[in-house]
Amino acid sequence: MTQPFISLSDVTLRYRTGTLALDRTDLAIDEGDFVALVGPSGCGKSTILKLVANLLQPSSGVVVVGGREAGAPSLPLPRLRIGLAFQNPTMLPWLTIRQNVMVPLKIVPPFRAEFAAKKKGEFADRAEALLEQVGLKGFGDKRPWQLSGGMLQRASLCRALVHDPQLLLLDEPFGALDQFTREELWAALQALWMDRKPTVLLVTHDLREAATLANRICVMSARPGRILEDRAVTLPRPRTVETSYAPEVATLVQALRLRIAEARSAAEPEPSPAGAMA
Ligand code: ADP
Repeated sequence: MTQPFISLSDVTLRYRTGTLALDRTDLAIDEGDFVALVGPSGCGKSTILKLVANLLQPSSGVVVVGGREAGAPSLPLPRLRIGLAFQNPTMLPWLTIRQNVMVPLKIVPPFRAEFAAKKKGEFADRAEALLEQVGLKGFGDKRPWQLSGGMLQRASLCRALVHDPQLLLLDEPFGALDQFTREELWAALQALWMDRKPTVLLVTHDLREAATLANRICVMSARPGRILEDRAVTLPRPRTVETSYAPEVATLVQALRLRIAEARSAAEPEPSPAGAMA
């Protein structure tokens, strides 16, 4: 049997403040899949992303991503390429949009060596092709302050994908955008995923977004989080904004909403944020 690309087995994560964010959580994701994580605020969704990105180590249990166990002595495997995008895209203000998109190519092997070897022109073409794919043709020479929030988020998707990541981790990437821009970006993200098929783990509060984009939706319990429910979304692709208003989606969203409402009502109050550190 092939191993899942991502697996969390019996994972518990307690922060140093004492907050138990995850308690004996299991999750398995196959390579190339698109999975959305939904659940009440504070249930541990971002904590799962950080464990998968190897930014946090589990207190107990095992996290394996692409055959590499988090925190284990390094294996003779090339480092996994990961793309990240968050709610507020942070761009370097002194660089153009194209240069911002190219930043991972300066940092991540094997591109880093080629960047140094003056393949910059080729990489600029690569960034430009992505910008064009998300509707930002002609904006590569602009500075971040010249773009709207939606345009910056498009550019941040390009930056997350420019180094051909095997894994794309998205934490509320469209959370700060208005509904119309968000729906446009769903189409852009879906097209990029269909084209390149990275494994995607998307954290979102927007259930329609989860149903429109993902192949699977995992609903988490209130903190300490565990996966309560795992729903397959079998709607054909490409899915459109119309799909997101289809009766099947409405039924699915309503079922998820009820599940999360139950989980929220079972939730303990959030602990005080004093000394919030991993
Ligand atoms: P979600 O993404 O589902 O909103 P998080 O994974 O961010 O939830 O947080 C889960 C719980 O862990 C919350 O109670 C949060 O306050 C707490 N938490 C998150 N990060 C830290 C940290 N660095 N130090 C202490 N507690 C944290």
